[in-house]
Amino acid sequence: MKQPTSQAHVIQAHVIGFPRMGRKRELKFALEDFWRGTTDESVLLQTARAVRLAGWQAQHQAGLDWVTVGDFSLYDPMLDMMVRLGALPQRFGAAPGLEGYFGMARGGKDTPALEMTKWFDTNYHYLVPELAAGQRFSANPADLLAQLQEARQAGLQPKPVLIGPLTFLHLSKAQGAAFDKLELLPALLDAYGELLDALRDCPWVELDEPILALDLDERWCAAMRSAYEQLSRQTTSSILLASYYGPLGAHGTWVTKLPVAGLHLDLCRGAADWPAIAQQWPDDRLLSVGVVDGRGVWRCDLPHWATELRAHGSRPGGLWLGSSCPMMHAPMDLDLEERLDPAVRAKLAFAVQKLHELGSLQDALRSGKTPAVSVQPAQAATGRNDVAGLDRRSMPYAQRARLQRQRWPLPVFPTTTIGSFPQTPGIRGARAALRQGRITPGDYRQAMEQEIAQVIRLQEELELDVLVHGEPERNDMVEYFGELLDGMVVTEHGWVQSYGSRCTKPPIVHGPVSRPEPMTVSWITHAQSLTKRPVKGMLTGPVTILKWSFAQEGAAWRQHGMEIALALREEVADLERAGIGFIQIDEPAFREALPLRRKDWDDYLLWAACAFRVAACGAAPATQIHTHMCYSEFNDIMPAIAAMDADVISIECSRSRMELLEAFRAFAYPNEIGPGVYDIHSPRIPTTEEMVALLEKALTLIPRERLWVNPDCGLKTRRTEEVKPALANMVAAARILRERHG
Ligand code: GLN
Ligand code: ZN
Repeated sequence: MKQPTSQAHVIQAHVIGFPRMGRKRELKFALEDFWRGTTDESVLLQTARAVRLAGWQAQHQAGLDWVTVGDFSLYDPMLDMMVRLGALPQRFGAAPGLEGYFGMARGGKDTPALEMTKWFDTNYHYLVPELAAGQRFSANPADLLAQLQEARQAGLQPKPVLIGPLTFLHLSKAQGAAFDKLELLPALLDAYGELLDALRDCPWVELDEPILALDLDERWCAAMRSAYEQLSRQTTSSILLASYYGPLGAHGTWVTKLPVAGLHLDLCRGAADWPAIAQQWPDDRLLSVGVVDGRGVWRCDLPHWATELRAHGSRPGGLWLGSSCPMMHAPMDLDLEERLDPAVRAKLAFAVQKLHELGSLQDALRSGKTPAVSVQPAQAATGRNDVAGLDRRSMPYAQRARLQRQRWPLPVFPTTTIGSFPQTPGIRGARAALRQGRITPGDYRQAMEQEIAQVIRLQEELELDVLVHGEPERNDMVEYFGELLDGMVVTEHGWVQSYGSRCTKPPIVHGPVSRPEPMTVSWITHAQSLTKRPVKGMLTGPVTILKWSFAQEGAAWRQHGMEIALALREEVADLERAGIGFIQIDEPAFREALPLRRKDWDDYLLWAACAFRVAACGAAPATQIHTHMCYSEFNDIMPAIAAMDADVISIECSRSRMELLEAFRAFAYPNEIGPGVYDIHSPRIPTTEEMVALLEKALTLIPRERLWVNPDCGLKTRRTEEVKPALANMVAAARILRERHG
């Protein structure tokens, strides 16, 4: 094991990673221009360089000792690791130019893209590496070396960061015949060894192993031990092993014995580790403490950490102050916000402000003074989370279903959609015009009502059974409610990367959440006034609103979830009062919010299903409550889904060829289900025959009285020309089923 070469000061500061989109999302726009073909490679690469440099300069200006290199990516860091390790699936050929690189990310003419999935419990999506049995690797450090050079030329001291070998392997998927991924580890480590060798001029190299926040079986723990023994022996740089997104927990006992030169801990989500690791981790090795939350928007409690860390400031091995995890999950710069309430602003720190927090904490520890900045304590409980008795419908499902059928006689295999219809240029234009003050709110409302009228007419022509209003007024299913609920704010520029060039702008929950007035009723009743067929009210569920917003962690998080549930419950009541008989409460993030460790699952699931029921269960028995989920591995959480007690659930299904339904059978799901039969993520128009085949398969698992016919997800990203024939085929498929099984 190597000791650090530079010991300028034992207390230093760094980040695990910095947002990579640029202050005003320059990278996003450069990527999209390049993909459209309106600019060439050199423009894109120049923008990328400028964005990287600006990030490093921000780190430097805040007083950080190191600038982090390797966290930047043109699309996704896991994809970059595939390139650096020479681990490209065969269908993409060997050496990727920029076109090949984006081909893997987005699909080429005849080559499907790599699969994309959620990164840990965040709303970031990574590209899943595909590894074959006997996979070869070969190190390709070119991009890293070039970026190190850029940083050095700017006079900055770089600390390269790579996703570590075990995390890379763990998150990859085995392609072809089943084999044990760990068999690939020796070859993979050789490639990592070569990468490290190429980085030998760097005093420190950070290897990120966020899988340390997961439950790992003993084989993976043993593999991690031997991997780091080997890598530490080989490299001349010092290895900083970084864990984040949660506590090390039981892994702590062996991780602290690894022969690495430095260890980074997430002291925001992994605070539970702190006392034990502070003791166990040898004094003569570097300890990096992630005290500034890379995933949140809240200011760090600097006085607290200044006191807590004082005793560690003289560790011979050094103490680094850091972000808890990569800051890619935080918005960029609070200074861009011009309209924020000062009382809210006072609680916030975005990525740039977080850098300055690290700088201040470092100053405080070096000088022995306590930082003057204090943070506001998390707000006190409001007492609004007493939900006893609010989380049960007044009748069990079987009785409700009878009343619902009496109220709205629907055919068997009823057809519906998930909520949104295509976001037309008309919708986008009206929204932009309103934002720029070119039209009045009244004009905007009229434009949206026209869109709704078109969507209703289309659905009547198609003869769908339960209609939707199409959600034209919603830019985003969470932001929309964030704007209307008290206790939440929406920022102007608080973008966070979701995948590739796609960003979302999560609202901020800053205080007790409540509903000042109805949020959806006038849109839905307008839609209902245009048709005799039933229109489904459309809400985003409490878990999803909370998960896709920034909110305080811990007890406050659940408290806010219940506040949101109670606000939605009022909305449900208002929709009912307005005569709406079908209400859908979407929960696409229900699975995503599942804790990383299994021991925490039950507690979360009980709470999450309860929050949903609090929102839904005020409904009269004859009101049919729908919910919708997508991108989920349902098998793990079936009992909790059943415990939500929605009358109908629609789920994404068509891509997995109904495999998900097996989960529903194994558990004997008690209520109604609409397994998606139209993959809305593809521009392809499914034929009637293939949808009939899917439904026939579903019928072997779900009784005919409980089967619905619907697409996988909302139609927002599709074009009307695609949606019309696809839905026509879907309705035709339902008719065929009715003839066969009616
Ligand atoms: N009702 C939403 C829509 O149709 C659901 C979106 C989602 O599942 N993410 O757009
Ligand atoms: Zn969906």
